[in-house]
Amino acid sequence: MAKVENLSCSECGQMHCYRRNKKFPEFCLTEGVEVAQVAQTVKTYQGDSIDAKVARAAAEIEGLYYCQISRVEEIVAFAKRIDATRIGIASCLGLIEESKIFVKVLRAAGLEPYTVLCKVGSVDKSEIGIPETLKIQCDCYEACCNPILQAQLLNAEKTHLNVVMGLCVGHDSLFMKYSDALVTTLVTKDRVTGHNPAVTLYTSKSYNKQILDPVHLKSL
Ligand code: SF4
Repeated sequence: MAKVENLSCSECGQMHCYRRNKKFPEFCLTEGVEVAQVAQTVKTYQGDSIDAKVARAAAEIEGLYYCQISRVEEIVAFAKRIDATRIGIASCLGLIEESKIFVKVLRAAGLEPYTVLCKVGSVDKSEIGIPETLKIQCDCYEACCNPILQAQLLNAEKTHLNVVMGLCVGHDSLFMKYSDALVTTLVTKDRVTGHNPAVTLYTSKSYNKQILDPVHLKSL
């Protein structure tokens, strides 16, 4: 195993920052960061800004409902606490049925959902330089995902909170970059684990050993 040069929290065995019941490691980020920088973030969370509201709403939901409600319900609880009534949904084509159910949940909660599918704009993949061989189905019209347009259409609706429903890795990055509203995720796409990417990590010592195989990883 190669020596890790730039130690960070992933190399920590203490997590002392959480309950202060162990000790900080030598390379601790908490000890290394400027006190003023921490203080500045605390000031942000203490104020009346939207960032403060969001930080406190998230903590309140964690504290109130710890292990009691699902992420679907947590998003409802979060939206209410930050006064977000118009909820944008950036849906993957593959998750549209789940998005339709989520829309029902939001409406039942008195919220106003508005959904934009990833294929909006209907631009063939060839138009952005993707060869036929990389289409899921070759030699037919196949629209590319258009996360920038998804974000722009939700921006035009002046949504207060946008929810990612299974956008591809990278398409989700662009969506988040172009979204005016805050973004949270309901479904993280993972085509081989039923949208539960943690499964691959949980099984890294058994069924998914290849995720730690440098030869495999270099081939990707
Ligand atoms: S901040 Fe310090 S104590 Fe906390 S996880 Fe990182 S290295 Fe460990």
